[in-house]
Amino acid sequence: MMDCIICGTYLHVDALKCNSCGAPQDERARSGEKSHCAICDAVLWSLAETCVQCNAHGYPALRPRLGDKSLGAPEEEIET
Ligand SMILES: [Zn+2]
Ligand SMILES: [Zn+2]
Repeated sequence: MMDCIICGTYLHVDALKCNSCGAPQDERARSGEKSHCAICDAVLWSLAETCVQCNAHGYPALRPRLGDKSLGAPEEEIET
């Protein structure tokens, strides 16, 4: 038993991914942060590709305010 790294939702210990915010429950989660869906304002992992609440898909909807280009392209690190 554990809490989601990103949103704190209570998860089963075997969960690979938070079903509340979409964050993977491993080191990759730490490359993102807590964010909000631009469509429905649900709490999401900032690198999630699909909103778990409204199914909005893709970065145009879900991209957090990434002003800092020096971070590179986070989407290249996501396994889909
Ligand atoms: Zn979560
Ligand atoms: Zn949404």
